[in-house]
Amino acid sequence: MKYKNKIAGLLIVLIFCLSYNIDYISYKMGPDSYSMDPDNISPDLIWTMLGEKVQRVILISIDSCNPDYIRPDLMPHLWEFMFYTGCMFINAETILSSDTVSGHTSMLTGAYPNTTKIFGNQYTNVSLWFHPFPGFMAPNRFFDYNIRQANTIIEAIEPNLTIGTHFISSKWLHWMLGWESDSWVGPEFKIEFSQGAPRFLPASSYSWANPDYQSQVGNGYGEMLPMDHWIINALIENLRNEKFPQNFYFVNIGYTDEMGHVYGARNAMAERQMREVDNLLHRLFVEIISSGKLFNTLFVITSDHGMETIHEEGVNLEALLNEAGIPCYIHNEGGSAYIGLPFIDKNTTGYKKMKEYTLNYLELINSRYWLFDDIVPSENYSKYNIPEDGCAGDIFLSFRKGARIRTKNAPAHANGEHGSINERKIVMMWLGPHIKRRGVIFNEDPVSICDIVPTIGSLMGWDLSKIENTINGQDLTTIYNLGESV
Ligand SMILES: [Zn+2]
Repeated sequence: MKYKNKIAGLLIVLIFCLSYNIDYISYKMGPDSYSMDPDNISPDLIWTMLGEKVQRVILISIDSCNPDYIRPDLMPHLWEFMFYTGCMFINAETILSSDTVSGHTSMLTGAYPNTTKIFGNQYTNVSLWFHPFPGFMAPNRFFDYNIRQANTIIEAIEPNLTIGTHFISSKWLHWMLGWESDSWVGPEFKIEFSQGAPRFLPASSYSWANPDYQSQVGNGYGEMLPMDHWIINALIENLRNEKFPQNFYFVNIGYTDEMGHVYGARNAMAERQMREVDNLLHRLFVEIISSGKLFNTLFVITSDHGMETIHEEGVNLEALLNEAGIPCYIHNEGGSAYIGLPFIDKNTTGYKKMKEYTLNYLELINSRYWLFDDIVPSENYSKYNIPEDGCAGDIFLSFRKGARIRTKNAPAHANGEHGSINERKIVMMWLGPHIKRRGVIFNEDPVSICDIVPTIGSLMGWDLSKIENTINGQDLTTIYNLGESV
């Protein structure tokens, strides 16, 4: 064969082969979004063509985030995003005790602790501590689904099959709040420092929806991925999983809390973690903008409580009271404590005398040690919306900033703590294209963590009638003219 013919023959064979593969090659060389693989067509796109839209709210709780952390030098991306897309209330408050479980319970139910009955991180019926049947006291039962007396926004919207819910939490404390969500993931079954695979609870649809989840997001800590990174990765991965778009996302960023407890508040370590969260939020904002999903998304960025630095070792309050002849149980919730006196019947003169004596003695202790900002007898619990049915004991104490107590077997906590009146100030931002760009709202009267649920309901147009009789918060859209529905 002539040389020229050989070349021509080779070319024909090459063109023949390429004709089969050129589609594949161009598909591989092009951007992913050009793929016509029907599995990868965005429901957003389909529903937009059908004249509908995917509504989405992303509720992010930055655990232990003080509102003064939101500043342009510390969190420049969040600060800028806030000015471009919405507003931030300068004066927002959580409930008492200003703790993680009670804070998130009120955040997700819109109800105060005297409605939810969740007034701290642990549930204890403080008044029944001396009861002959110890089961009555039921300490540490925060996983008990039946204690909480108000339903969450997730439980309210879940019967509606067109609204998908997704719960992403750094903390195992929150299980009972996410129980009814369509899917639930966290970096680990146990708390921050352990290792392991993400959990799908309970019988979550998510592992079915996205079996590659773990390989995409990685293990929390298993691959030395810091927890807050894992949480934002998990959120982004879910947002990308367009086959199963969700409408309500609850996201708890939890390592900020750990840093606060270990190192205290308003220092270089706390600020380092906030800078990291700011960069993670920037990644999230860029992701949601570039995927074209910002248009129908509402961001609520808040915190469950603040954080203050502790600088005292803690007075042993239990020993002081016992020495004065006051037998009692002290339920310590970080910056707050609930004192239970040994009387079932609150109408006896014995109870009244003992309570008066205890209150006087606490005032005396305060005149010497200056431990408390407020000493509240149970008949005045409505002042702080604390449960009045006896479970929160007979006297509520809120500790002075920086001061803590010990009990006989519980030491004072670490360098940072929350739980008192001093850690009530929280972050509250409403962001998205449908929110008016008002920047910082200098509100004199504080908005409440309980206002979040009714305001989301109003902005998303969701039917919350199932929980309207337990919601204590207000719809901020009407009071502050926040914007239009998403
Ligand atoms: Zn917390």
